[in-house]
Amino acid sequence: MRDIIIAGNWKMNKDWTETRDFGGLVADFATSLDHPAVRILIAPPYPFLQEAVSITANSPVKVAAQDVSFRQNGAFTGEVSAAMLASIQVPYCIIGHSERRQYHHETDATVKARMQGLFEHQITPIVCIGETLAQRDAGETEKVILSQLQGCFEQIELADSEKVVVAYEPVWAIGTGRTATPEQAQEVHALIRQWFAGHYGAGFANGLHILYGGSVKPDNIADLLAQADIDGGLIGGASLVYEQFATMINTAVQIVKHRRTQ
Ligand code: PEP
Repeated sequence: MRDIIIAGNWKMNKDWTETRDFGGLVADFATSLDHPAVRILIAPPYPFLQEAVSITANSPVKVAAQDVSFRQNGAFTGEVSAAMLASIQVPYCIIGHSERRQYHHETDATVKARMQGLFEHQITPIVCIGETLAQRDAGETEKVILSQLQGCFEQIELADSEKVVVAYEPVWAIGTGRTATPEQAQEVHALIRQWFAGHYGAGFANGLHILYGGSVKPDNIADLLAQADIDGGLIGGASLVYEQFATMINTAVQIVKHRRTQ
């Protein structure tokens, strides 16, 4: 059975002190839970990654970067490479987030290049895909998702489903307060899993974590996690408030415990 991943994407929020304080709180809370079936991730801004790695080091909390360069090194001002992330023991990295696609021209092709760079350094990519509102309204969701999967994963060899995480984030639900209904999200998650089954085999697809992202909050996370193919949340706004983040982690723990009694 797949465990649940609760990942907080801080975006451009929190400074060094807040990273230390919030990271410390989450680390203590996660340690007190002692529940390995819920994986907790935080994704602070670049300058505070090392502090986050250090403050969470003796806890189950793992750290993710919010992006990485698709280049290896050299004269690329402002860029950060996968090797640099590896050198400070960052184990996860979000790539292809819709805000990066929208404001920084990230494409499926550069997502793929980023993924290859991360694999070379044993960093697990969290690959974001999702349709815009116009695409959904035009009935193109399935086509867009399949095309993004094809573009991001074409010629990527994968044998172990633990080496990658996929996040379905409908663009119209990110930061808008408008969540996909659990049924809408499940439909796309099932499509994604089916695609992986076809390309990487049923065993791989069964083990793959597919997270939902888009206005996940304490009051809707239980219904989302109750869906068969939703294996966690990539959470922006609600991950910035400790009480909300802790509540969502608690909900995930209760769901895992409940599943295990069935
Ligand atoms: C995100 O940052 O990936 C996200 C889904 O944000 P929010 O939860 O604020 O919609």
